Amino acid sequence: MNRHDFRAPLVARAIENAVEARRVIREAKALLFDWDGCAAIADRPEPAALALMAGKADAFAIVSNNTSHGRGFFTDRLRAGGVMLEPERVILAGVETLRRARQIGPRRALLLASPRMEEAARRMGLELSADEPDLVVLLRDTRFSYAKLTQAANAVRRGARLLVGNPDRTHPSVEGRVMPETGALLAALMTCVDPQAVEVEVVGKPHPTLFLRACEALGVAPHEAVMIGDNPDTDVAGAAPLGLQCILVRGPGGLDLADLVG
Ligand SMILES: [Mg+2]
Repeated sequence: MNRHDFRAPLVARAIENAVEARRVIREAKALLFDWDGCAAIADRPEPAALALMAGKADAFAIVSNNTSHGRGFFTDRLRAGGVMLEPERVILAGVETLRRARQIGPRRALLLASPRMEEAARRMGLELSADEPDLVVLLRDTRFSYAKLTQAANAVRRGARLLVGNPDRTHPSVEGRVMPETGALLAALMTCVDPQAVEVEVVGKPHPTLFLRACEALGVAPHEAVMIGDNPDTDVAGAAPLGLQCILVRGPGGLDLADLVG
């Protein structure tokens, strides 16, 4: 049975007007920012996001489904925008998925990921092998290939456990274009196996892990924090059931990030 239902109905709601959103931000103990399409567009931090972060300098975190980069990628970009953030407050689906793989225990893992994350996995002590792996770890892999799909599909069919960074099929790029995400690779893999027989463990949003880890890093309870994101299915649907207040920006029904400042 799949733990993640791609078509889960949206029951969680975000704050719908800017005045209320500004009040909630002012009163919140901490802010959690999604990155792609929210705090940054094509990895360039948005001025309004930088202003909101500066207003809660010691009490904000990045909570991103990114599975290709390490924390320094984000702290460097924020620093260039004049905002300092310690790496412990960058909570990433990729890093957390490798942590989860480590926590599952000593296993041979087939890792589909960027070279950077492969290196991070080795540093964390994961044994990586395409030879009869008993764990398949799927992150965004821009070198995804027919050969890798064959290896992953057969490993899962043989009973290897499947751990996935995020369920997102795309993330926004420049000029309205999209970048295929980890979920697109997962969709390819799932067409090669019996989906009823495979349990997919997803670490990223909308699952609770990243939100809870961010609250822990900031020393706040979920109800004391606000999640600001652009994706109702991951940012809002994931955060609201944990008790976080949610603000949706951009897209249909979303507020303008610039209207949240002040
Ligand atoms: Mg986003």
